[in-house]
Amino acid sequence: MTEFRTGIGYDVHRLVEGRRLVLGGVEIPHSKGLAGHSDADVVSHAATDALLGAAGLGDIGEHFPPSDPQWKDAPSLLFLSRARELLAQAGFSIVHVDIVVVIEQPKILPYREQICRNLAQALGVGRTAVSLKAKTAEGIGPVGAGEAAEAHAVATLKADLRN
Ligand code: MG
Repeated sequence: MTEFRTGIGYDVHRLVEGRRLVLGGVEIPHSKGLAGHSDADVVSHAATDALLGAAGLGDIGEHFPPSDPQWKDAPSLLFLSRARELLAQAGFSIVHVDIVVVIEQPKILPYREQICRNLAQALGVGRTAVSLKAKTAEGIGPVGAGEAAEAHAVATLKADLRN
């Protein structure tokens, strides 16, 4: 019997000077970057949580705690690769991941294809199994003021159950 599962993920990080802006493993030129223990790649973090959530395997903070020095400045694509392993061990395969990143500046469209390719590679899925949209916050709130970036993700998994 095949069963489908859906998971949701969300993340937000502050945009500060003196940090790199890394989204989906792509370093994007900008005057500010995302603050966090790892590379603070908000896109990868939201996607990781959506995948873990769909499988009922907890959340990113549980598997990759900020208190663990091995994740300091870690490339967050590693979290996706690790999540993929956890899903496989639990009998799930990834059908699709859809992500919305909300950031006022810079424009993400020129980097979208490479971000999707990076995510697909980390997850071991085809390019069309990953989708990314970028939006601004229309000047509203801290994201609109360029003080933070956030991402939302939905993941669909297929579970091959024995009964
Ligand atoms: Mg995060």
